[in-house]
Amino acid sequence: MAQDTRIPQVKVNDRAMARLRGGHVWVYASDVVDEPKAEPGTLVHVIGPKDKPLGSALYSSSSQIKLRLLCREQLASEDDLMDLARRRLAEAVAFRSQVVSGADAYRLAFSEADRLPGLIVDRYNDVYTIQILTQAWDRPSRKEAIVSRLRDLTGAENIVERVDERIRELEQLPQLAPHALCGSKTATVFTLNRASPGAAKEGTAGVGESGVQFHYDALSGQKTGAFLDQRENYAAAARYARGEALDVCTYQGGFALQLARVCAKVTALDSSREALEMAEQNEKLNSAAGRPEVEWIEANAFDLLKDYAAAGKQYDIIVLDPPAFAKSKRNLPAAMRGYKELNLRALRMLRPGGILVTCSCSFAVSEEEFLLMLTGAVQDTHRAARILERRGQSQDHPSLLGVPETSYLKCIIASIV
Ligand code: SAH
Repeated sequence: MAQDTRIPQVKVNDRAMARLRGGHVWVYASDVVDEPKAEPGTLVHVIGPKDKPLGSALYSSSSQIKLRLLCREQLASEDDLMDLARRRLAEAVAFRSQVVSGADAYRLAFSEADRLPGLIVDRYNDVYTIQILTQAWDRPSRKEAIVSRLRDLTGAENIVERVDERIRELEQLPQLAPHALCGSKTATVFTLNRASPGAAKEGTAGVGESGVQFHYDALSGQKTGAFLDQRENYAAAARYARGEALDVCTYQGGFALQLARVCAKVTALDSSREALEMAEQNEKLNSAAGRPEVEWIEANAFDLLKDYAAAGKQYDIIVLDPPAFAKSKRNLPAAMRGYKELNLRALRMLRPGGILVTCSCSFAVSEEEFLLMLTGAVQDTHRAARILERRGQSQDHPSLLGVPETSYLKCIIASIV
């Protein structure tokens, strides 16, 4: 087939070729040896040493991640690119129908993990959101094609474009406010972990048929919703939960509201007052007879756990879900100290047989390092921990083998003796 000469070529070095052959899809700027003058977001052909064709990629004129490989073939045109994108979006939707049940909110397309690098699509019940993280998908014609395909595949009537300001800056894209791309509804209520009829009998304790409900507002400046990547971990934690629970870094009540279904008492803390106000609104959505009221506390986790431990407070289950302490490998030592301190304090407050649910969403912290930190904390407190589950992000946030960055969340559930 005659090659389309309109597709620019980008030459990369051995290191980039090895990386791509290992299954990764990124080429860093430092591994590009010859780059044409291409428009931001252009479809390019990737050429390795000795003119080896390596595939087709999306080009960024500004990011350190210069290329994101789409496929091993040499796409011949913009039409080919958009056909591929439409197919990938269909695959992403089909995959969710395999792995998601009992929830009407989940990630529908997860960038590299769905081989749509730079594109995130989430569903919150009847409001869908799109986030564009690269120059490539910001082109109006491509964005329109994605929106139209999404509507065809899902019947979505309301689609909002959400904005990550920091990423738009890195990609040198103009700043914009979140806005509706189609439809007029931008806020809704969504449900996680609704049990299928009969499932409760099979031992899915705490996952009532009605599920746990949350408010979502795609346009509000303040982020609302829940951390969808923790959805399955909420249910997992609830399976072991009983008695008195403490949810540290609760945000808008994700773990706490699930635990309130099975525990006698739930205390939840966060340093953000706005997050806690929304958590209380969420609690109202879920209030039902027999459920304990959650005690919401605005505090710094380090200070409050110290005070509680000193006061001799004891719990049957403690969830630790702090923000990503390690943004990169550079601040790993400080991050590990932060994790250890929180875990130490939690371990001191767990009753014998109590459950620790401890999470890290830092990609820079490997599961191995996280478990080492936990081992140290268990040793320091002279306790013993049996691992019940080593978990990660929910399946609607898949990990793509070969692209380790798609696997970032660790959630260890342990029984503490
Ligand atoms: N568990 C939540 C997600 C937590 S995100 C869920 O499943 O939805 C991390 C949260 O930690 C944020 O809400 C943030 O406000 C809070 N946070 C950050 N630093 C904190 C600190 N030092 N003390 C308490 N909360 C903190």
